[in-house]
Amino acid sequence: MTIDKVLTVLEKLAPPAYQEEYDNAKLLTGSRAAVCTGVLCCLDITDEVLAEAIQHNCNLIVAHHPILFGSIKSITGASYIEKILIRAIKSDIALYAIHTNLDNVIHGVNQLIANKLNLINCKTLVPKKNTLAKLITYVPKEATSVVLDALFKSGAGHIGEYSEASFSTQGAGTFKGSEKTNPHIGLRGVREVVAEEKIEVLIPVHLQNSILKALFEAHPYEEVAYDLVPLLNTNQGVGSGLIGDLATPLEEVALLQNLKKEFNLSVIKHTALLGKPIQKIAICGGSGSFLIPAAKKAGAHLFITADIKYHAFFDAASDMIIADIGHWESEQYVPEQLFAVLTGNFPNFAVLKSQVNTNPVHYFLG
Ligand SMILES: [Zn+2]
Repeated sequence: MTIDKVLTVLEKLAPPAYQEEYDNAKLLTGSRAAVCTGVLCCLDITDEVLAEAIQHNCNLIVAHHPILFGSIKSITGASYIEKILIRAIKSDIALYAIHTNLDNVIHGVNQLIANKLNLINCKTLVPKKNTLAKLITYVPKEATSVVLDALFKSGAGHIGEYSEASFSTQGAGTFKGSEKTNPHIGLRGVREVVAEEKIEVLIPVHLQNSILKALFEAHPYEEVAYDLVPLLNTNQGVGSGLIGDLATPLEEVALLQNLKKEFNLSVIKHTALLGKPIQKIAICGGSGSFLIPAAKKAGAHLFITADIKYHAFFDAASDMIIADIGHWESEQYVPEQLFAVLTGNFPNFAVLKSQVNTNPVHYFLG
């Protein structure tokens, strides 16, 4: 078992292409080709977490937050980040970050929070643009099912919870090969008219190269005719934040009590209660100030997030309640999710969940 095999599973869960531009979600130290001795899943990489990995012989740490984030000009051990990097490299431990790409997929960080609150009708709050394209290709009729199989297998034809979605129309294709060709049908130098099917499928842009490779391999022609068309459609399964409903509305105080219990919170920072029942809830695990306008526009009664600055609390106005539950608190279940996905894929492999509480924030409650 290589580190690459573990990362391939994680990259299927949250493709790195879906991370935000400022992010650095990827393999940060180590080699994909190395043999993996065990995986430790955590939220943050600290010295204690690194010690835990060494103790349990895990040479791969999968963390939500990338320890390498800004630009580092030297690695002398001057900061805690440099110290951790030096120790990880010396101990031959690969560090991998699965960050805003996991925030941005519909079954990621925000869904975990939604599950704790039993939200239904969950949708991406701000779906991502420029992630989808249409692939159109022309196939002789007898090869249609082989080409479709190859396209579906390589990741084309997914729409929401549906897979293998395509559309085809029948028509006639013409071609005339030069003297250098070796046509699959007909003779070189003679115009051929062939009954063909035009196949259209939706593809995620980040899989474009592998889908085209699969098309070229499955298609019987020497020269494969195809069109790649960028789409203005947003991708419902990818984007920032999430919005969903409670099956039955809850009074504000009861909702906050439930939130406190489910996330084991000692305190919730929130804007003034509005005296109205809550049903529609927007969520953004981690720092979510940037989604306040979108949550309001979507009609959320409550926005659960973290890292709200003083002035941003005013933006709730009297339209909704903002609840800041703390950054670590909002993402505390991420290691559990990574653990579940990896043990699901590798049931007999050493996958561990960190037992270290890495929350740097403490609350003095008197
Ligand atoms: Zn975070």
